[in-house]
Amino acid sequence: MVWECQACGYIYDRKNVDKASEVSPPTDFPADWVCPICSVGPEFLEEVSGRSS
Ligand SMILES: [Zn+2]
Repeated sequence: MVWECQACGYIYDRKNVDKASEVSPPTDFPADWVCPICSVGPEFLEEVSGRSS
């Protein structure tokens, strides 16, 4: 599952962070996730459909 930050376009690919952050289903990203580029919260993340890195 891939998410895109609507503020800056940062791509959050869960496959790339699963092992590091250990986010458990059904949460797709941590509740306290902060964009590493523009520092917005998870409310700015939007699921990118049809893209599988
Ligand atoms: Zn961002």
